[in-house]
Amino acid sequence: MKDDLQPQGIYVAGRWRLTGDLAENRDPSRPEALVSLQSLATTCDLDEAVAAARPAGAAWAALPPQARFAVLDAAGTEILARTDEIGRLLSREEGKILPEAVGEAERAGMIFKFMAGEAMRTGGELHPSLRPGTSVEVTREPVGVVGIITPWNYPIAIPAWKIAPALAFGNAVIFKPAELVPACAVLLTEILERAGLPPGTLSLLPGPGAEIGAAIAAHPGVDAVSFTGSAATGRGVIATAAARGARVQAEMGGKNPFVVLEDADLPLAAEAIASGSYLSTGQRCTASSRIIVVEAVHDALVEALAKKVSALRCGPADDAASSYGPVVDARQLASNRAHVRGALEEGAELVTASAEDQGLFMQPVLLAGTTNAMRINREEVFGPVAAVIPAADYDEALALANDTSFGLSAGIATRSMTRAQHFRRHVRAGMVMVNGPTAGVDFHVPFGGTRGSSYGPREQGTHAREFFTQVKTAYISPVG
Ligand code: ADP
Repeated sequence: MKDDLQPQGIYVAGRWRLTGDLAENRDPSRPEALVSLQSLATTCDLDEAVAAARPAGAAWAALPPQARFAVLDAAGTEILARTDEIGRLLSREEGKILPEAVGEAERAGMIFKFMAGEAMRTGGELHPSLRPGTSVEVTREPVGVVGIITPWNYPIAIPAWKIAPALAFGNAVIFKPAELVPACAVLLTEILERAGLPPGTLSLLPGPGAEIGAAIAAHPGVDAVSFTGSAATGRGVIATAAARGARVQAEMGGKNPFVVLEDADLPLAAEAIASGSYLSTGQRCTASSRIIVVEAVHDALVEALAKKVSALRCGPADDAASSYGPVVDARQLASNRAHVRGALEEGAELVTASAEDQGLFMQPVLLAGTTNAMRINREEVFGPVAAVIPAADYDEALALANDTSFGLSAGIATRSMTRAQHFRRHVRAGMVMVNGPTAGVDFHVPFGGTRGSSYGPREQGTHAREFFTQVKTAYISPVG
């Protein structure tokens, strides 16, 4: 198998090349199967990529907007034409089931289409000045060279939602994908190259995060860094980039609450929780992990949810009978298991059957009788695990929802518009879902959170321009 695979290169200054260091990329559904062999970049490659990006970015920014539109639109067209094939690769590489993987590829294609349009919508503002005869023009300019560091859980959608706006607004990109998913990154880079992206405008540097990721955050030639990943790594990236005055944006996960009130539609609530907590193997920063239920409906909700959860099947990503796929790797599985063990030691009750994991296939875990102080409710797990926390009433449920260091997404199940509106206003989260799962968001509206979840401006939709452009205010006084 290994002999049949051609190693995949890094892409620097418009050229693909192999390096001495190769990493094996394996299929979590069948860890004995290799998906690809990936050349790894060094910090010398980063220096070369940044040196190429500076002039290439300036030339890219100087093109008429329709030229950028054309490249991004062509990339979107190719992605949308190949969603089945891209979905298959993605599901082999990351382990999400085929329908989810194809859906992710579609989303990436639509993001490129949306951001192609954004390239054409960069008009500015004209203001009368306080000074007679002078006018004020406010325009947006590219930031320059943008470092993009992405996680493994959305191998094509997250790179798309950072790279597409970076390019749309005239920046050059240094792209460092997660170690576990280089093949989707290579494929996306090839698509952008074919779409006509000029050499040097984007370089692809797969490699270890602690080496290449850290070097991107620290590089004096990188003007801005957009990061998605774990909270601990994100805080380091923020500190490094900010210390040298670079612009930085970070998405760092969540500990998302889903509140169930006494007037909830319980079957709908159970469905929203089962979907939000377990699909995509719970490997979503927007996954609902703290299920806060008022006492009046606590037992009924746990019963309905247990039924839903026990019907979920974890299996190979390409098996149509699987509700969700394997955990991404052995390290993540061990961490998930340690969190569950810790919760049981702290007194949580296991509601679902404690089936043995086969390989990386982790059965869904539903815990009840937990308190918000337990570790299981303080730290992000990133697996198919949810914990029920009882609450006396709405006020206590809201207080528990807000008692966390994160603030990404929050959900509530209620028939009361008054309660829903109160929750929308008072829950400390960047995204709120009323009667729907906390995970699974649209691509054309802002994405991001508060407190420990996010740093810097929002991603996605028209708000993406806040990070990927800088504002210039010009005072123009014509003379005769
Ligand atoms: P996870 O633990 O889920 O893999 P990480 O935050 O470690 O999440 O990884 C997210 C991204 O950050 C990956 O591309 C990874 O290679 C990169 N990364 C890891 N360590 C560092 C670091 N010290 N500096 C910058 N990037 C890093």
